[in-house]
Amino acid sequence: MHSKELLWEKGLVEIKKLIPPESYTTWFLPIYPRSFVEDSLIIAVPNEFYKSCLQENYYEVITSILNKLTNKPIHLEFRVESKPPTKPNQKPIIELNTSVNKKQNSIHSASSINGRYNFENFIVGSSNQFAHAAAMAVAGNSTMTYNPLFIYGGVGLGKTHLLHAVGNAILKRDPQSKIRYLSAESFTVDLIESLKRDDMPSFRGRYRPLDVLFVDDIQFLAGKDRTQEEFFYTFNTLYESHRQVVLSSDQYPKDIRNIEARLRSRFESGLIADIETPDLETKVAIIYKKAELHKKTIPQDVAMFLAKNIKTNIRELEGLLLRIIAFASFTHRDITLPLAQEVLKEFVYDKNKNFTIQTIMATVAKYFTIKVADLKSKNRSRGISVPRQIAMYLAREHTKLSLPDIGRQFGGKDHTTVIFAHKKVTKKINEKGDLEKTVKEIVEIIECGKTS
Ligand code: ADP
Ligand code: MG
Repeated sequence: MHSKELLWEKGLVEIKKLIPPESYTTWFLPIYPRSFVEDSLIIAVPNEFYKSCLQENYYEVITSILNKLTNKPIHLEFRVESKPPTKPNQKPIIELNTSVNKKQNSIHSASSINGRYNFENFIVGSSNQFAHAAAMAVAGNSTMTYNPLFIYGGVGLGKTHLLHAVGNAILKRDPQSKIRYLSAESFTVDLIESLKRDDMPSFRGRYRPLDVLFVDDIQFLAGKDRTQEEFFYTFNTLYESHRQVVLSSDQYPKDIRNIEARLRSRFESGLIADIETPDLETKVAIIYKKAELHKKTIPQDVAMFLAKNIKTNIRELEGLLLRIIAFASFTHRDITLPLAQEVLKEFVYDKNKNFTIQTIMATVAKYFTIKVADLKSKNRSRGISVPRQIAMYLAREHTKLSLPDIGRQFGGKDHTTVIFAHKKVTKKINEKGDLEKTVKEIVEIIECGKTS
């Protein structure tokens, strides 16, 4: 039997492995277990906004982890509680730039810039050369030639790393400069809290006097009109007084849906730099660099093996490397190719563990707002057949089901239909059009357990 604290601590360790660090800091640091009675865990959250976001995005992830840890289904409830218990070692999530704070924390922590992500340990390759050069230029120059700097690229490709690197370089050059890094999620939370407390002056006071503002994952503002409006004013104030703004997004400004035109045009008005997926050499160099940071040497065949097996996401590459290092040390073995192969198998299994045929069908159906029954039907209209092909493709790629099994699950289709669907979707993905994006989004929803 777990105590609520122990269970929650163990859960957090797993959650941390699955979600981006910024999301973890935003959503999980401010919440804590209130009670754990029988199979029911109550988590205290600071406000309704947290409650609905956690419920919507993380409920499945959390419960699946807790179920696994306790070996039984856990009933999870988020409860709004305004006063958290005093925990001396836990920092508030929104670091208010008050004078008290300034005295107590070093400038570094007031700015939320993470010293770990700097230019020295950022590997430059053809995929990120341009973004790196742009970031260096912004870091080294106070004439605001590139304002805003807008860095975009896929998940886990180094956007956050570059933002912090710029921040670190600026702080090194001028330790007095007032800079602040935060995710668009945190900006939203801060705004909502300030509105609730009816304290917009201090909200504005936190952003408008800054020399440099970094806002990560700006695509999060999509559809949030009030936040966009406030961000627009914040942006303008800084811009007009020649202060630097650095933004990141997983999409090109034009492709972010549900964002106000005036904001989009601001994003496009400075320098836009993209990060592409890294090539093999860059991935290998990153592996060596990360291993060096952990004071380990990685044999060349292992580095090649990892780089070849993890196609794009560098965060994933790093995660796998860390698992290999940990596994070797637990089992007192050397880091060798067979050991790496063993760990990778487990890693791939882990990644695919949320992909059941039912989850795939339910998620695809929900994504396209059709019914699971449509996927299983004989309906050949495009609105149905494309989602069906995507679902078949995902079943083929992410589950161990055989082709005939997959066919059967889709209302008794022939295995050749599955082969055809798989080929067609693969071809479309390679063409890098809209369908590639759609498939990626669905995979992400399932991987993160955001299905419901
Ligand atoms: P993103 O914000 O684009 O999702 P991150 O910046 O969080 O990605 O990067 C994910 C991980 O990969 C981080 O640990 C980061 O240090 C590492 N990483 C990404 N690109 C590089 C690079 N070029 N050199 C070294 N590490 C990198
Ligand atoms: Mg990031």
